[in-house]
Amino acid sequence: MHVERAVSRRGFVGGLASGLGVLGFVPGNALWARTVNSDPARAPLQQLDYDALAKLANNENPWGPPPSAMERMSWAFKYANRYGYPDGDIAREIAKHHGVETDHILLGAGSGEILKVVGVTYLAGGKKVVGVEPSYEAVYRHASGIDAEAIKLPLLEDYRQDIPAMIRATVQSHREVGFVYLCSPNNPTGLVVTKREVQQLLDGIPEDVPVLIDEAYHHYVQDAGYATSLPYVLEGRKVIIARTFSKIYGMAGMRLGYAVAPPAMIEEMRPHSTGTINALVKWGAAAALHDTQAEERARRETIQLRTKATADLRALGFSVIPSETNFFMVHIRRPVQPVIAEFRSRGVLVGRPFPPMLEHLRVSIGTPAEMDRFMVAFRQIFVSASAGG
Ligand code: PLP
Repeated sequence: MHVERAVSRRGFVGGLASGLGVLGFVPGNALWARTVNSDPARAPLQQLDYDALAKLANNENPWGPPPSAMERMSWAFKYANRYGYPDGDIAREIAKHHGVETDHILLGAGSGEILKVVGVTYLAGGKKVVGVEPSYEAVYRHASGIDAEAIKLPLLEDYRQDIPAMIRATVQSHREVGFVYLCSPNNPTGLVVTKREVQQLLDGIPEDVPVLIDEAYHHYVQDAGYATSLPYVLEGRKVIIARTFSKIYGMAGMRLGYAVAPPAMIEEMRPHSTGTINALVKWGAAAALHDTQAEERARRETIQLRTKATADLRALGFSVIPSETNFFMVHIRRPVQPVIAEFRSRGVLVGRPFPPMLEHLRVSIGTPAEMDRFMVAFRQIFVSASAGG
């Protein structure tokens, strides 16, 4: 099924390698592979053979961009030396995709840039961000980077986000709150905030408080209780939706994300964005947006692999948080940090610790071969060890 894809990718990488060859650069693998540290659990990533690792740590799409996007990006290399060039009309393509005008769209080098721009724009003057913990940490990191504070609320017992507590915190600190951060589905738990809960939040907080809704994993959700919050933007609510091409579209390394928000908010944020999106991804993303078959295939295969992995873990007696994303969390009932190192020494990269959930391991969905390697390592670490002991 992925043969066609692999061929396209070789064409693309071939083009990249020959381009870099002109500059006298030795392409990646040889360098990664050069030194392998004697203790692979501790070796810096640069010293390991990156390509040979099972990469289940960063919630990426293991298959990469669809062939249609690969082809378009290879073609767009001809603009690599330009500043002004036709850009595939990517902002208009995104706007059309969501049924809005381009004045509702702000592009970023990944949605990570959008999250940062929201922070810089709305936390100025010592304002605070309200959100839960654990959630996508970069938002809080950016806040502390600009000397703003975060009001981080604990998750509920079932790991869902505590909407009434978010409302209370926002109302109590109204004048100090720069924005509310809602990640749905949430990273690292994989759980959604339902459309009813989003409504409850927006009804419960003052209308002038901006709400950043991070829908990075939107495309994987099957839960009928979930819906995108885009309609609130159209209503003119102070809502910013963050989306990315890094997940279902498989372009994390290419860096493109965007915000959809009311035009006045886009204008407030625009001066804080760099506007430096590379030429290739603009064309590739436009192609990917139209490739609904590729999107469906990535979703279907991811969900099949997630269902299998979580069933296997449950069969071994471990509980898994039911995820709506391309990753899941398993309760390993012991401190996660040394376990991460054990996986790494077996060539499997898994998620970092997510305080305070320090007995949970986050695992991203990889290729079938990577998932097999994960399960083999999991059995070695948990089952064989306890059987032997
Ligand atoms: N938001 C969430 C919830 C994420 O998990 C990530 C990345 O893992 C991002 C945003 C940033 O992604 P990117 O900058 O690649 O668009």
